[in-house]
Amino acid sequence: MHRQRVVLVTGANQGIGLQIAKELAAKSFTVLVGSRDFARGEAAAKTIEGDARALQLDVTDKASIAAAAKRIREELGRLDVLVNNAAISNTSKRPGQSVEDYAKLTRASNVSLDEVRAVWETNVFGALAVYQAMLPLLREAKEARIVNVSSGAGSLTRCADPAYPYRAIFGPVYPASKTALNAMSLAMAIELGSTGIKVNACSPGFTKTNLNGYAGTETVEQGAREAVRLALLGPDGPTGTFSHATLGTLPW
Ligand code: NAP
Repeated sequence: MHRQRVVLVTGANQGIGLQIAKELAAKSFTVLVGSRDFARGEAAAKTIEGDARALQLDVTDKASIAAAAKRIREELGRLDVLVNNAAISNTSKRPGQSVEDYAKLTRASNVSLDEVRAVWETNVFGALAVYQAMLPLLREAKEARIVNVSSGAGSLTRCADPAYPYRAIFGPVYPASKTALNAMSLAMAIELGSTGIKVNACSPGFTKTNLNGYAGTETVEQGAREAVRLALLGPDGPTGTFSHATLGTLPW
């Protein structure tokens, strides 16, 4: 059996996922760098100090998920941490179009259902499908952890408050996909409540990455912080929470 703890980070070829991978490799994890494009995963793995291995994984592709789980079982025998990080913000925002203009074109009344489906396919169903495929491997670990990288933009409590500054951009595509991911996180935590497996969701904060055209204000180090903390939770740590590195617990 492989000695080092093993973590799979989905969408780890760039951005916050790559930073999470780097930090867990520095903590002596064997890191599986999930990437839908294997070559980009390999290039990313080369930038990580420690045991980092590229793993082809498209979270919307059943065969890719099954092949990834098979490889992990054969090569490593178990998974200690799963970080569901892969996500997309849209498929149809035009270059240069503001977030506010995109939000106006994607209200509940006028959004293309294809756009909603495409984003939810990655952010919600992708995370759930990876959870289902990896759970048998997580059950092989002594005290596995699951971290779902969500967003404060998905908090219904915050967005229901008329004073919340980002309420205007809450819509059915990305923000609601993160609300649904939060629901999946809680469902997973409840399912696994009697096991040693802890499931928590986090918000990275507005981070400078490809997802937002590098408009974010936080560094990837800041964005990765809470996910890394939750990946390393000890046996007394919580399960079924939603949190941010400096804001603490966030309302669902
Ligand atoms: P990013 O740099 O765009 O990274 C997203 C990653 O997800 C990329 O590696 C991307 O792969 C991957 N991905 C997309 N679709 C995939 C699929 N079908 N299968 C596998 N991988 C897929 O964005 P990021 O900001 O680091 O995002 C990381 C997480 O943080 C996401 O869950 C995001 O929602 C969350 N988040 C980010 C912010 C922010 O301000 N940046 C705020 C709140 C939450 P490719 O390189 O192939 O596209």
